[in-house]
Amino acid sequence: MGTIVIKFGGSSLSTTDKIKNAAKRIIAEKENGKNVVVVVSAMGKTTDQLLTLAGEITDRPAKREMDMLLATGEQVSISLLSMALTEMGAQAVSLTGWQAGIITEKVHNNARIVDVRTDHIEEILKDGKIIVAAGFQGVTEDGEITTLGRGGSDTTAVALAAALKAERCSICTDVTGVFTSDPRSVPKARKLASISYDEMLELANLGAGVLHPRAVEFAKNHSVSLEVRSSIEDEEGTVIEEEASMEKNLIVRGVAFEDNITRMTVFGLKNEITGLPSVFSTLAANQIDVDIIIQSQTDSNQTNLSFSIKDKDRQEAVDVLEKEKEAIGFDHIECETGLSKVSIVGSGMVSNPGVAAKMFAVLADNGIQSKMVSTSEIKVSVLVDSVHMKPAAQHLHDAFELGVLEETAAK
Ligand code: ASP
Ligand code: MG
Repeated sequence: MGTIVIKFGGSSLSTTDKIKNAAKRIIAEKENGKNVVVVVSAMGKTTDQLLTLAGEITDRPAKREMDMLLATGEQVSISLLSMALTEMGAQAVSLTGWQAGIITEKVHNNARIVDVRTDHIEEILKDGKIIVAAGFQGVTEDGEITTLGRGGSDTTAVALAAALKAERCSICTDVTGVFTSDPRSVPKARKLASISYDEMLELANLGAGVLHPRAVEFAKNHSVSLEVRSSIEDEEGTVIEEEASMEKNLIVRGVAFEDNITRMTVFGLKNEITGLPSVFSTLAANQIDVDIIIQSQTDSNQTNLSFSIKDKDRQEAVDVLEKEKEAIGFDHIECETGLSKVSIVGSGMVSNPGVAAKMFAVLADNGIQSKMVSTSEIKVSVLVDSVHMKPAAQHLHDAFELGVLEETAAK
């Protein structure tokens, strides 16, 4: 009998009525003659509320205790959903992360799954029961409870699907699929029928928010057939798959954007071979993520180095670099704030030159200045003033004809 994994996010379980609704959907899947493994997040804003509670007690909670606390959120959902399923006449068993065999590395708050031991789950499935497993949590080899980072339930679902060789993994959420852009800011955005793992990975990393980036990475590495769909609506969602099986009609498949970005410039950096590594290792040692980097030589002795970081890291970045000023060897730092990143993503770019050129032309035609640029094989990102973020996204969405139905374009 084939197995399917279905994941419900917190917003799809925020009330007991929504939990009952999820139970109905699950029973419908079970009636299709499948083994069903359900993975759930904590109800609604539970995880945020638990974080707030901890914050009322201490600014520096021990990471181990934080995991202990946050893991309770998912435990509430598994038991209630299991009760709802039983109440509707199904046979269901709830399992915590450790009961479900989710083994992680010894890292609190952001652990990676290293193994999934499915013996127990397989026993229960053999009895014809529905499994309701807690997402986002696991256990280390020495029995410590860990969590997988915010949004980590997606990763639990994909990991279980891979380990159980499931036919598919459906992520049921409060949107109906993956969109060409965020419909709240780009009204012409529409749902995609399919997207490749790599494109989805870029979008997830660019803050598109529908899927945990690690879940996409895991799905790609294990060829898990992944689908994002609505937890309420019956319409088809978006399939995430290997590029080969997709229509190649769209060069660009999505426009993503993110604000609160700072451009930091280190002026007068000594032009020594150690200059660059010392700046970035100082930032990395303090867990500051650097995105776009541009180095420009001023003369043979000095260079200026610009890079983009999140606004929230600005003060810390300045502090740690100033502290090492002597050792690194630079003149001064300047910051430009109020910036946003706008990106276009699409695997068709690899074989179509001129995509970046078109992007810059569209922005220029609309009086939008690009302040920094970065590219990968399937992505071009530019930094713009935040006031230009949404207009830039809309103009690019129009210029690359993302509002046009894929089906129409393909046939
Ligand atoms: N409940 C966790 C969170 O809010 C995990 C998840 O929702 O995937 O981050
Ligand atoms: Mg989520």
